[in-house]
Order: sequence, then C-alpha cells, then structure tokens
Amino acid sequence: MTLAKTAWREGAVLCNHIEAKEFHYNDNQKVCGVQLRDVKSGEEISLSAKQIVNATGPWVDLLRDKDHSKKGKQLFLSKGVHLVVRHERLPVKQTVYFDNTDGRMIFAIPRGRITYIGTTDTAYEGGKEEPGTTKADVDYILEAVNQMFPSVKLQAEDVESSWSGLRPLIHEEGKSASEMSRKDEIFDSPSGLISIAGGKLTGYRKMAERVVDRVVQQGAFNTKASSTATQELEDAAFASYAEVQALVDRLFTEYPKLLPDFKSAEYLVHNYGSASESILRAAQKIELPAELALAAAEADHCLQNEMTLDLLDFFERRTGRLYFDILSIPRIRQVVSMVFAKFYGWTAAEIETQEARLDEAINRVKAW
Ligand SMILES: Cc1cc2nc3c(=O)[nH]c(=O)nc-3n(C[C@H](O)[C@H](O)[C@H](O)COP(=O)(O)OP(=O)(O)OC[C@H]3O[C@@H](n4cnc5c(N)ncnc54)[C@H](O)[C@@H]3O)c2cc1C
Repeated sequence: MTLAKTAWREGAVLCNHIEAKEFHYNDNQKVCGVQLRDVKSGEEISLSAKQIVNATGPWVDLLRDKDHSKKGKQLFLSKGVHLVVRHERLPVKQTVYFDNTDGRMIFAIPRGRITYIGTTDTAYEGGKEEPGTTKADVDYILEAVNQMFPSVKLQAEDVESSWSGLRPLIHEEGKSASEMSRKDEIFDSPSGLISIAGGKLTGYRKMAERVVDRVVQQGAFNTKASSTATQELEDAAFASYAEVQALVDRLFTEYPKLLPDFKSAEYLVHNYGSASESILRAAQKIELPAELALAAAEADHCLQNEMTLDLLDFFERRTGRLYFDILSIPRIRQVVSMVFAKFYGWTAAEIETQEARLDEAINRVKAW
C-alpha cells in the first residue's frame, strides 16, 4: 500500500511526505478537496474534504495563491541559522541568552555533548527547501559569541554542524525582520480554506485549538470545540520533569553496558520518553557491540512506531543526530542502513541512493 493511501486512511492528510498540489472546488467555488502527491513514489490521489486547513509554514502563501486568496496580509520570510559546537568549546551549564551589539538576542543552548548557538534573522527570498548557511551567517554568530565570551575564541573550524530555517512572519510595513511580531494569524478565504501562519513552536497547541474551533464554527462537523487542552499527548505521559529525570537515572543505573555515560541515557529518554526501556530491552537481545545493538534497536523502534521513511529521515528528523551528534553517524550508519534495508526490502541500488542522500546532508550542514 502506498504511503499516500496509508496517510489518507489514518487521517494524516498534510504530513511531510504528502504534498498538497491543487485544490478542488464545487459549483459554488467552495474548496471541497485536494490533489495529493506522494513525494516518494510520485503517485497522486484525490481527496475530498468538508474542510481544509493550510498549515504549511513558509509555504502558506504559495497555497493561498493557488486558492486565489493571497490578498491583504502576506508572509515575510526570515532566515534563521543555528551553529553546533562541542560542549567543551562553549561549556554553558544552562541556556544563556544575551544581546548582540546590533540589539538582537543570541541564545547558547547546551544539549547532550554539544552546545548550539543562534540565531540569525535576515530577510530571505530564495528557494524554501534548503535556505542554507552562508559564511556571513557563521561569522555573525561566532562574532557575537566571541564578543560576549572573549576567552572562548570560537572559530569556523569548531562548528560541527548547522541548520537553517525560515520563519513565516506576518509582513509589517517599514519593520526589519527582527522587529516583526512572531504572533500567529488565521486567514479565511472566500473559498472556505483556512490558513494559519506565524507563531511559535511553544504555542502550537494553542494555535491548533484556535484552528479547530474555527473549523467547528464553520459548521462542517457535528462536534464541539477543540478538546486539546485536556488531552495528553501519549498514553504514558510523564506527570512532571522530575519523573523524566528519575527515568534517566534508573535506566543509566540498570543498563550500564548500553548506556556507558549519562548523556546517552538522557538522549534516549528525551527522544523516546517512556518507550526508552523497550528499546533497551530489544537491544539486549541483539548480538552486536553495545553501541551498534542500541542503534539497531533504535532504528527498529523508529520504523515500527514513528513512520520513519528513510535513512536521512532517521538521522535528521527522528534522532536529530545530523545536528546534535553528527560524529556518531559514521559509527552506526552501516547497522542502521541494514535494519532499514531489511524492513523496506531495499535493493543494493536503493541502499546506494540512501547512503548518497545521507552523505549529501552531512556535507550540507558544513558547507558555507
Ligand atoms: C530559525 C528559527 C528559530 C525558531 N526558534 C523558535 C523558538 O526558539 N521557539 C519557538 O517556539 N519557535 C521557534 N521557531 C518557530 C517555529 O519553528 C515555528 O513556529 C513552527 O515550526 C511552526 O510550525 P508549523 O507547523 O506552522 O510550520 P512548519 O514547522 O514550517 O511546518 C510546515 C509543514 O508543511 C509542509 N508543507 C509545505 N508545503 C506543503 C504542501 N504543499 N503540502 C503538504 N505539506 C506541505 C512542510 O513540509 C512542513 O513540514 C523558530 C523558527 C525558525 C525558522
């Protein structure tokens, strides 16, 4: 069964491997469906829907344009770059932020074996897929850190990895990127399409609540307002951060071979929560050196439970290793690739393509 059909049956309409290409309209010019393309297979399906929400971040205006409703307020794309250095090179104990000489705020955030620093905030007009990190971005961030911590003397060679993203800000005339509000906004189209853009990651449930309430108001569904405020994200949710820490402590003590240092226990629990122990138990049954056994069990968990698509998806989105632990990739990629190849039945040629895409990404995060 193709990914598109699976996603459709499970109701995950706009997920990151299914592209909404075009909208369908009824005789009253109301949007009543969408043409979807499975980005992996190229296959298309047509989907009918009572209500369609466009929550495509930097691409929101592109879809509003397709809906002929890009009028009034529009998006302004601002590029933000983060750099990653070994924690020992910038050994902050907790997140610190400081003002740069241009008045912008800079963050330095410790995470496992690294510290990441960001960010830039510059107007952006290029292709949205990979905005990329430039030398000017790297110089800007390193200069800001070196001014605040003169003894650190960070250099471009210290940067292990980087990533860049686009903030879909709501355009405000006469303001620079860093002055524009980070507030989210809903756009209603005469066709009935609801678009939402802007906002912060930390506010995503509030944004989702507002959108669901708007959908309900439009009367397409016989249901009450959003209930997200009282819903837990998973069955075995932690009641407090103390419970998270208690699990890290216990797993670190009980699985010394698989978790040789505290940071690897933290990594596991921060990524997989209460599923961490089942990954460790599975790893215990794999006859490989500890690090490889754990990687194989982690890959299998992601395939079985997290809809992981391919090798790059695993190293980039599911585990964050491409950014936060890039040095671990050469050590475990072969075993992870074998687990994926078996699960998806990849041919030798497909494995080669997958490996090449991963290499490309590893080069990209250090190319400026
Ligand atoms: C550099 C930077 C730093 C940030 N820092 C913070 C921070 O410190 N704290 C914070 O709270 N927030 C921060 N944010 C903001 C946060 O990342 C965004 O608010 C959040 O990602 C918005 O989520 P979203 O789901 O609306 O959009 P996105 O996360 O952009 O998701 C949009 C999705 O739509 C998909 N899509 C696009 N077109 C189509 C299509 N045609 N069909 C189907 N799918 C499509 C895309 O592939 C993507 O997966 C930061 C953003 C940036 C760029």
